[in-house]
Formats: sequence, C-alpha cells, structure tokens
Amino acid sequence: MLIPCPHCGARDLAEFTYGGDATKDRPDPGSATAEDWCDYVFHRDNPRGRHVEYWHHGQGCRLWLKVTRDTVSHRIDGAEIVGPWAAAAPKQARGVA
Ligand SMILES: [Zn+2]
Repeated sequence: MLIPCPHCGARDLAEFTYGGDATKDRPDPGSATAEDWCDYVFHRDNPRGRHVEYWHHGQGCRLWLKVTRDTVSHRIDGAEIVGPWAAAAPKQARGVA
C-alpha cells in the first residue's frame, strides 16, 4: 500500500506508523466526564469502508497526516498534513487548489 504524503509523495506503508482514528474529537477537559474520557481513549469502531485515520511519516518527513482510506480495498482517497505544520505547508501539500 502506498500512502500519498503531501510533503514527500507516494511512499510505502512501511515508512508510516498508524496513529489511530481521526474521527474522534478530544473531550473538553473542563466539562468531560470519566465516561467521555473512557470512550475517547479506549472505545473504537471497526468501520467497513471509508475511514479517516492518523498516520505518522516517521521514516520520511516526520509529519502527521490525516488519511482517508477504504478499510476493505485499502484505496486511499486523500491525505493532508495536520498539526501546527499544516498552516506552514504549501497550499499544494495541504490539498488546497
Ligand atoms: Zn512525508
């Protein structure tokens, strides 16, 4: 499987580390209950089909990416840089036309 890193180009899966589900929002520390944190930290869906995931390009640019991948076919529909470096990336690397 090739992951299209916006910074490095298409690279082999072996260069990346899976970082988890990118669809879960971090609870508000000021109002979240123990159940909210338990759900955020431990409970995961196992979706069949299109899913958004975090991947770390540890053997490349070392950036975190948000990758949209089909969990059945492994087809990747897109990848974008996330975190504080996303705003500094060229528009092309952020997926902005
Ligand atoms: Zn990269």
